[in-house]
Amino acid sequence: MDDIKNCPFCGHSVHVKTIVGITYVYCDNCGLVASFRKYERKHQTIERWNERVGEYNVRS
Ligand SMILES: [Zn+2]
Repeated sequence: MDDIKNCPFCGHSVHVKTIVGITYVYCDNCGLVASFRKYERKHQTIERWNERVGEYNVRS
């Protein structure tokens, strides 16, 4: 299973879903939705998400 980082805003675990060919990352807890249209494949989206999350200071 792909390792995906938690939401940078609330720290909740996030879900990955592909709708009409676009992969979204979303957080049930705070409603954050992120998509990376250049990276539509799931593993690419997850890589990009993890890089993005690394840019924030996640409080754990
Ligand atoms: Zn969240």
